Amino acid sequence: MADHTGDIGQAAAPKKRARQLWKHTTVRRHIHPVLKSALAEMAPGLERCMYCGDNQGTDIDHFEPVHINPLRTFDWNNHLLACSLCNSHLKRDLFPLADDGTALLIDPSSEDPAAHLHLSLAASEYIDLTDRGDATIKVFGLNRKILVRGRLNAYRITRYC
Ligand SMILES: [Zn+2]
Repeated sequence: MADHTGDIGQAAAPKKRARQLWKHTTVRRHIHPVLKSALAEMAPGLERCMYCGDNQGTDIDHFEPVHINPLRTFDWNNHLLACSLCNSHLKRDLFPLADDGTALLIDPSSEDPAAHLHLSLAASEYIDLTDRGDATIKVFGLNRKILVRGRLNAYRITRYC
C-alpha cells in the first residue's frame, strides 16, 4: 500500500490517480479482500457497519474521502467497514469540517462516540452533545426511522427481561 501512496504522491493528478489505483483490477482482487477481512474482524457484532452498527458492512469506506486527501487512499487508518447505505447513499463524499479545519465526523475506530453522542433509551434516538455529534447524526442518518424502530424493539425486549 505504501507503493501506491508513493505513486499517488508523484502523480500529476493525484485524485485521478488515487481513484484509478483503488479501482484497478489487481487492487480489487488482492488488496480489497484482505482489507475487508481485517475490518470485518474489527467490526462490532457480525460484520456490522462501523457507522450505523445495523446493516452488514459490505464496503470499504475512506473516512477522509479520496477527493479530499488522495494520499490516504491506501492508508490503513483511513479504512472503515461500512454498509452501502451509509457509504454510498448517506456519507458519499461528505466530510464536513469545523472552523479550525478539523473533521466534524466521529471516527469510530479511534474516538469514543460517547463523548459526542448520547443514546436516549426511551426515545431510542441519538442526541448530539457536541457539533461533531450533530454532524455525525446528520450525515449518517443515525436517527432514521428503521434504526429508531430497531432500538425501540431492543429496548422493550430487554427492559422486561
Ligand atoms: Zn451503515
